[in-house]
Amino acid sequence: MTGSNSYQHPNEHGYYGPFGGAYIPEMLHRNVEELRTNYLDIIYEPGFQKEFRELLKDYAGRPTPLYFAKRLSDRYHTTIYLKREDLCHTGAHKINNTIGQILLAGRLGKTRIIAETGAGQHGVATATVCALKGVECVVYMGEKDIERQSPNVARMKMLGATVMPVISGSKTLKDATNEAIRDWINHPSDTHYIIGSVVGPHPYPDMVARFQSVISEEIRIQLKEKTGSELPTHVMACVGGGSNAAGSFYHFLDESSVQLIAVEAAGLGLDSGHSAATTQLGKPGILHGSKSLLMQTEDGQVTEPHSISAGLDYPGIGPLHANLFKTVRAKFLSATDQEALEAAFELARLEGIIPALETAHALAVLKQLNFSMDDKVVICLSGRGDKDLATYMKEMMPDNL
Ligand SMILES: *Cc1c(COP(=O)(O)O)cnc(C)c1O
Repeated sequence: MTGSNSYQHPNEHGYYGPFGGAYIPEMLHRNVEELRTNYLDIIYEPGFQKEFRELLKDYAGRPTPLYFAKRLSDRYHTTIYLKREDLCHTGAHKINNTIGQILLAGRLGKTRIIAETGAGQHGVATATVCALKGVECVVYMGEKDIERQSPNVARMKMLGATVMPVISGSKTLKDATNEAIRDWINHPSDTHYIIGSVVGPHPYPDMVARFQSVISEEIRIQLKEKTGSELPTHVMACVGGGSNAAGSFYHFLDESSVQLIAVEAAGLGLDSGHSAATTQLGKPGILHGSKSLLMQTEDGQVTEPHSISAGLDYPGIGPLHANLFKTVRAKFLSATDQEALEAAFELARLEGIIPALETAHALAVLKQLNFSMDDKVVICLSGRGDKDLATYMKEMMPDNL
């Protein structure tokens, strides 16, 4: 379904209901227009699709399995399937998008790639595909994040990327994003900016959602093989900017029987002042080129988010999700740092799978929901937890060290 009543696509100006658009400085207009007028023709061109599909298969390792989690299902008295994005090359779903965008950049004749990163996961996925294609790569990263995420900084450097420390503002993700935008303004013709989630000015949210939609495309096929029906009763995913959730929801957005559940990071608690639960705490505002929900003070200053997981530590949410929230098409729940930690240990002990801290938030809300045995619940296992082992050890097992 692609009509105007679809939740999938923004209108021609990039709006999902009241959210989206392209709020950009005049000096970025040319770059964003070039993308907007070309992206659909390029990504649906047969040669592009062939190369994209081949790389997803042979390089990223798709299709990822849809795994029936028996012991987790028993624990919650229902039927739970895990979509194993953690098994993708580089350890998370982010590679789906960076493969798509590096191919697009090539078709646009761009010879230089820039990206922003917080935890370093998007930076690593970007540095990876730049190495694959032999393209120059510059990743902007807040100085504070560089200190906190040293293994990912080392990975990016080994892959040949230049990591540019950002010392402005709070020295974290939103400042890195501002610096990347500044770089793009200064390099309007040779550079493509790979944004890592369904955020930013139109057409980024739509473009990234389309690249990530391979997740739900596969879920439909795999569920049909396993159960005889393509439709689950529930699809659950964690939300930072919202790309793994957008990819998991995409081909179910217009299937009203499928309950969509998005999980944000409540941090130390919704009322603690240290949270990243944007839909619960945010108001409409403009950040990084689009209108969406945004955590902000009374006078519109962006507030500093908090989550134990760096990938969910973002004060905004993509416009597609803001619209799903406003129209109540998706249910938005949240999990605290502590609840996420417990859920990560539960999955490790029940299924032998160590999830990323981000992903653990989606698992944590199983406790908040009541399922029946007949339900078919699909959870997007967005990434693996190797990168979070130090946190897991420090927070949960001080006596075992
Ligand atoms: C980056 C990341 C997220 C959050 O980003 P989304 O765009 O919301 O998907 C979630 N899980 C993992 C494993 C990540 O690396």
